[in-house]
Order: sequence, then structure tokens, then C-alpha cells
Amino acid sequence: MSVIPHNGGIPYIFSTFIINNSIYGDAMNTFPLFFKLEGRKVLIVGGGEVALRKADLLSRAGACITILAPDISHEIQALLTDDKHEFIYENYNKRYMSGARVIIAATDDETLNHEIHADATELNIPVNVVDTPPLCDFIFPAIIDRNPIVIGISSNGKAPVLARLLRARLETLIPQGYGKLAKLAGDFRTEVKSKIPTLTGRRQFWERAFEGQVSQLMFAGNETEAAAQLQADLDSTAAAIHNKAHPDAVENTTPTLSDESDKKETPVGEVYIVGAGPGDPELLTFKALRLMQQADIVYYDALVSPQVLDLCRRDADKVFVGKKRSNHTVAQLGINELLVSSAKEGRRVVRLKGGDPFIFGRGGEEIESLRAHGVPYQVVPGITAANAAASYAGIPLTHRDHSQSVRFVTGFLKAGAPNSNFKNFLNTDETVVFYMGLHSLARLTEGLVDAGRSADTPIAIVSNASMPNQQVLTGTLATIVAKQEDAELPTPALLIMGDVVSLHNDLAWYNQYNQNSTPSDDNWLREGAAGKFAKQPIDQQAHALSMIANLATNSGDDLEQLIVD
Ligand code: SAH
Repeated sequence: MSVIPHNGGIPYIFSTFIINNSIYGDAMNTFPLFFKLEGRKVLIVGGGEVALRKADLLSRAGACITILAPDISHEIQALLTDDKHEFIYENYNKRYMSGARVIIAATDDETLNHEIHADATELNIPVNVVDTPPLCDFIFPAIIDRNPIVIGISSNGKAPVLARLLRARLETLIPQGYGKLAKLAGDFRTEVKSKIPTLTGRRQFWERAFEGQVSQLMFAGNETEAAAQLQADLDSTAAAIHNKAHPDAVENTTPTLSDESDKKETPVGEVYIVGAGPGDPELLTFKALRLMQQADIVYYDALVSPQVLDLCRRDADKVFVGKKRSNHTVAQLGINELLVSSAKEGRRVVRLKGGDPFIFGRGGEEIESLRAHGVPYQVVPGITAANAAASYAGIPLTHRDHSQSVRFVTGFLKAGAPNSNFKNFLNTDETVVFYMGLHSLARLTEGLVDAGRSADTPIAIVSNASMPNQQVLTGTLATIVAKQEDAELPTPALLIMGDVVSLHNDLAWYNQYNQNSTPSDDNWLREGAAGKFAKQPIDQQAHALSMIANLATNSGDDLEQLIVD
């Protein structure tokens, strides 16, 4: 039930930074303050659900909470176990207000709430009568807790749901690592002040730290490296300041120092290999979205939907690097080279890949190349097509009655030959998901039956999984080819084989109306790749094109091949 994520630490401040809903200079009707509650008494009158919510929030700010009510819920008792809190099992009495910094009235008795408000006002103690704005001296904002950074949002009681929605948005944009970053900055503050004498110099130093390598290391969870990097940055900044003040000393004694700082002028950027999920932008991870919003340049595949691409930073260059199977080795080398060269220009590079980068995504090869060139990288997982197709088609991949394991298989092997290891797919307790299998459907189903799999084995084609034009076609190994000849479901598509497919009829929930429609013309894959691509004739695009040398003319038939990635 908690209203804010618990980050383990106890915030020592209670923030009331408020985004005001006034328009064009109207006065704010509340003022944002940061209220210290650590070790201070807060009186909450009431012992139920509402009191619990407020107690939960206030205890995170270190307050000593007194609960005053004849009945106090078990949840409150379980929450406030520290000795500093107090439970008074009595009816309200004004005398318990003594010594309180803040008072919360959380009872469902309107008359009593008014009485509490009047008493607190008389004693000059700020009071909040829950859900009664006219009786509130202060407001509880929606809180984003990245202790020691705390953000509160309030609509001044006008639209709390809107404030919460805003909070949800900010939660996605502000990495969890911000708190740690702020703590690290706090640890360095004195040293930075002594080594960088000017205010402007310090501001620039911190901006570099918070927007560059130090913050990225922290967000990636490498705290020790982040601290070391900050120390190194500080030392080299201090050295540069010293050298500027004593130019002769530099020439005579440390001739390499200026070379060093010259080199640091264009630090190597970083590459983020980001899983873009199956197409529905809501299936992106917070981390993916955050890195996409920081990108200087984005290299994206045919499988990345335009809706997802739209979430990248508006000013970022967006370069389409989809490729054909026939030429994919050259293409992959070209992409590897592009990633390295962009990073070496100091840019933040997002390599946006459909689904998950490490599932038939060649993410491994890309990072091998980055590692070989000393380019830092991070990999962000995405929801792979099999998971999306299963969820959105109502086909659980495992089920206690039907399937005890699941296998993700490619329709093609490395040399480009169709996968025909049929003997691996005979286990009736296992679900098999074929990626890149639609074009070899006939060969696959025939081979499986020949190898001994029952012709009655259920199989589904899930096309455009998670997208508005998702379609699902079910049948058996014996019937699916003929059904697909009629239905012509388009790529991208997955095949799911196994008894779990029989659950689809009962469990399907998404986009049902679309099931019997004809294949739509607005396939996002075609629009996303060729359409967007045509609209963005930028330099990098041309560069990528010349390196990859095989794009733009994606005919429908080639699509399955194009996304063999
Ligand atoms: N890395 C990707 C897979 C790339 S291989 C992932 O983790 O999902 C490309 C294959 O993925 C396609 O041929 C198709 O079989 C499958 N695929 C990708 N997106 C899909 C989608 N939205 N619907 C159905 N299949 C999809």
C-alpha cells in the first residue's frame, strides 16, 4: 500500500516542492518548503487505513509518531515498531497535542476533525485534515524518493490523480541511482570546493559529473568506479587549473600533462545496447526509456516500432540499420564499426534492437566489438517477442498440466540454412517457440511430423505481437499451412508449438476484433523501417547506407529475411 518506494534509508527531510497549478502568475496558494521531521513529534489522530498511509510516509522522514485512537490497526502496530513511536489507545483529547510539530487528523468523524483543526490552529501547530483541503495548513505531495533527493508534486488538492500521474512519469525519467549520485557528490563537496576556487568552475565540474561518465557508472551500479572516475576528474581539473596559473612550470616540469588534458577534451562516449521490446512502447523498461532520452544518436532495427522510436530524444540523430539476411555479415560488421566510431566521437549511442538484445539479437557480437575497441557499454534487456506473443495471445508458455519447459528456437541457423534439428522438438511436455520461422512454416511442420511429432500437435502463429494489428492463427501441424495460405498473416511473426496453444481459445484477451481481419496495410514493420527511413535523409543515414549497402528496397517478400538479425 505504500505511496512511495522505500529505498531502505530514512529520508531526513520531508519535501513539499510543489508544482503549482496557477496560470500566468496567479499566486501559489501553498508554498513549497522542506520540513525537517527527524526526531520530531507528529500526532496522528485516527488508527485506521488513512492513518496508516500517513504514518508510513512520515516515518520515512524519521518522525516520532504518536497515534491517538481507541482502536489502532495491526498494520500500524506492525509498521511503527521503533520505541520512539507511541500508541495512545484513547479518544481524542487536546492535551496530546503538546509538543507536536505537525498534526494529522485522520478520523472519519467530521465534527471531530473540525475540533482537531480548531484546537491545532489555536495552538499554532500546522494541521492536515486528510482529504479536506479547506482544513489543511499543508498538503501531502505525491513523492519521488531518491534520498537525499526528494521531489514532491502537488495540485493543491485540485487534481491529486494528475499529480500522481506526473509522479509516475518522473519516476520513469529519474534513475534510482540519483540518490547514490547525490550522496557521492556530498562526500566530495568539501574537496571540490578547496580544489576548484570559482563558483563557475565548480558548477561546470558538477555538470560534467552529473551528465557524463560518473553518473552513467553510478546508474549502471558501478559505485566504486563512479567514485574513482569523479576523483580522477577532480584531480585532472585541479591540475589544469594549476597549470593555467603556472604555465612555465608546466613546460619545464610536466610536459605530458597538457597532452593528457588535451586528450580528455573528447572523452569516449558510451554505447547502450537497448532492448526495445516487441513493439508496444508501454513494454519498454524505465531504463531503456531513460537512456533513449539521453541519446545523441540512435541506430535502430527494422523491428523497432515507430512508436518506440518516437520516445528517443527529439534531437538525437536516428539511423535505420536494418539489414537483409543475404548480406548480414557485412551489415553486422558495418554496424559494429558505426557504433565504435560514433562512441569515439564522444557521443552517447543507443543501439535500439527489437525485443531483447541477447535473444537472436546479435547483441553479443556488438559488445565483443565494443570491448575490443575499449568503448564502454551497457546492455538493457527488453521483452522478447516470445514473452510478448505468449501474453498478448493468451498462450502461457508453461502450464502445470501441459508444459514443463520452454525452448526458444531460431528458424534459421548461422549459415542461413533452415533449422531442421527436428529431433530436438519432439518432447510433448515442452513448448517450442520458433523465431524467424514463418517463411519455412511448411518445411518445419512437415519435418516435425516426419520426425515423429503428432500431426495433431497444436501450433499458433502470432503476428505483430503486442501491436494494434496483432493477429493470431491457431491450428495443428497438419492444418496450419493451409490456414496460413488463406489468412496470410504478415511478419514479424512467431510460431508457438505445444499443448499450451489449446488454451488460447479460453484465455485470449487482446485485440479480439482483429482476429478475422485481412492482413493490414499499415504493418508497422514496413512503415517503421522504410517509411521513417525515407523521411530522414540525414548524414549518418547516408553513411550507414553506404556501409551497409543493401537497404531501402524492402519488398514485402523480403521482410522475414530482413529481420533475420
Ligand atoms: N531480439 C528479438 C528477436 C529478433 S529475431 C527479440 O528478442 O524478440 C526476429 C524475429 O523475432 C522475427 O522474425 C519474429 O519471429 C520475431 N518477432 C520480433 N518481434 C515480433 C513481434 N512483434 N511479433 C511477432 N514476432 C516478432
